[in-house]
Amino acid sequence: MTMMEKEEEIFDPEQVVEEFEALTRDAGKVQVETLKKILEENSGTEYLQKWGLNGRSDLESFKACVPIASHQDLDPYIQRIADGENAPLLTSKPITTISLSSGTTQGKPKFVPFNDDLLDSTMQIYKTSYAFRNREFPIGNGKALQFIYGSKQLKTKGGLAAGTATTNVFRHPKFKRTMKAMQTTCCSPDEIIFGPDFHQSLYCHLLCGLIYREEVQVVSSTFAHSIVHAFRTFEQVWQDLCVDIREGVLTSKVTVPSIRAAMAKLLKPDPELADSVCEKCIGLTNWYGLIPELFPNTKYIYGIMTGSMEPYLKKLRHFAGDIPLVSADYGSSEGWIGANVKPKMTPERTTYAVLPNIAYFEFIPLRQNIINGQEAQPIGLDDVKIGEEYELLMTNLAGLYRYRLGDVVKVKGFHNSTPELQFVCRRNLLLTVNIDKNTEKDLQLSVETASKILSAEKLEIVDFTSKVDSTTDPGHYVIFWELSGEASDEILRDCCNCLDKSFMDAGYVSSRKVNSIGALELRIVERGTFHKILDHYVGLGAAVSQFKTPRCVGPCNSSVLQILSGNVVKHYHSTAYK
Ligand code: AMP
Repeated sequence: MTMMEKEEEIFDPEQVVEEFEALTRDAGKVQVETLKKILEENSGTEYLQKWGLNGRSDLESFKACVPIASHQDLDPYIQRIADGENAPLLTSKPITTISLSSGTTQGKPKFVPFNDDLLDSTMQIYKTSYAFRNREFPIGNGKALQFIYGSKQLKTKGGLAAGTATTNVFRHPKFKRTMKAMQTTCCSPDEIIFGPDFHQSLYCHLLCGLIYREEVQVVSSTFAHSIVHAFRTFEQVWQDLCVDIREGVLTSKVTVPSIRAAMAKLLKPDPELADSVCEKCIGLTNWYGLIPELFPNTKYIYGIMTGSMEPYLKKLRHFAGDIPLVSADYGSSEGWIGANVKPKMTPERTTYAVLPNIAYFEFIPLRQNIINGQEAQPIGLDDVKIGEEYELLMTNLAGLYRYRLGDVVKVKGFHNSTPELQFVCRRNLLLTVNIDKNTEKDLQLSVETASKILSAEKLEIVDFTSKVDSTTDPGHYVIFWELSGEASDEILRDCCNCLDKSFMDAGYVSSRKVNSIGALELRIVERGTFHKILDHYVGLGAAVSQFKTPRCVGPCNSSVLQILSGNVVKHYHSTAYK
């Protein structure tokens, strides 16, 4: 056993908390040291040489020489790495793995470098938030029902392994050791996590969870969407699951041989368990509190619940009953940003404390930006102000320099001297016809307001997205909704008007008043449409674990547009501005 392995097995949560406190006491200083380390280690790279840094590693030279970059700027370098070029392009250490970002935020998958430093920071962030979580919600030595899924592992032209970042992490032995040390052994064997068919894997995750139902301490996924999706599926398949448990034989609908072999080792005829699961299901009203009924020892439910996951919270709470929901940390395929060190906060109030040693962070002030009409200069972590919104830039050990992550965050406070960030939204505009500017967050809020009309009817929005229709004159917004049941035309007309009125942006309101933006259109799609969209992304190599429903579908995304338009069952035009 190597030293590294030994180290991994000793995990003292209180020591992790102490390390975090020490790191955040002088976060500014740690940031400067982190930047220095990154620049010194990579001074010989083609990228840093191109910008004439000449081995300097101080902050002033860095900001003077190296420009702010988008993914597009770095893509040619990443592409050369993926094609097998061995020279030090972005990092001095060779990049041997590529992460495939989920692609659902940007519309198409991107390649980003992955290396051991990213893996180490992943473990650091997992351990940090776990250590804080463990103080509030201690878990016994049990199991975690984790709805996690590996994506396909591809080989790039140059022979590098490419998979989603979560897959690269889940596959790594260090991840397994860390999870074990944190008492969160997954109920499901690897054959299920990495199975080639997501539907079959999901079914077996549920089955494994039921087999270990008394031992399950935590129910989790990367993004909360996967938990909601799993229990919605449970509603459909619970009887099949009970039959499998009763007979000890896996349904013939699961056909993947490796999954069948793995399940054969776990499944034994257990009529008693089948009876109790069956009884619980029958006893529930509209599946409220399903999770604690099935898994009575669950201490909390864990997964990213902020940002584009907020619309799923209502349903998640329904399934969760009184089990606390704890949002997981804030990061991306490109690298981690902050840990949730206040796990008792509701997801709506969750903030992420920046880990100052995992990357060098810069913050572009956005309010100033609006006032002056041009982009303000980025500032460092110790200059940010509470209540202000910023776009994040990241410089890390995986070859990203002043990289625009595309996210907008708001500073809500400080933990010692490191900022606590609230995730606001993606920066790129979502909906715009002319002078209107509506972001993902604006859309989310409008949908939330309109959904209250549906709640009164005991109906809910399963999922939603939008597009701008410029084929009409004037152009207008189209919102797509999948609903949990049938709503009357009258209700849906009200919802449509409410959506239109709930976009408060001055550009939108004034354009609507003079009809330079047409009436908002609400299109209802058939049940299952958003599953088809998920399947479409999975078919492209995305991992369900990282899936985020695209909240706006651009004209380039013709496959998703086709799925949506092929499934519209009703549509309404707003009369709110007549
Ligand atoms: P991916 O493309 O799968 O790497 O997704 C990364 C993106 O997911 C980030 O840039 C954020 O927009 C979003 N994200 C990640 N973590 C969180 C979080 N805790 N809260 C809200 N959004 C998040």
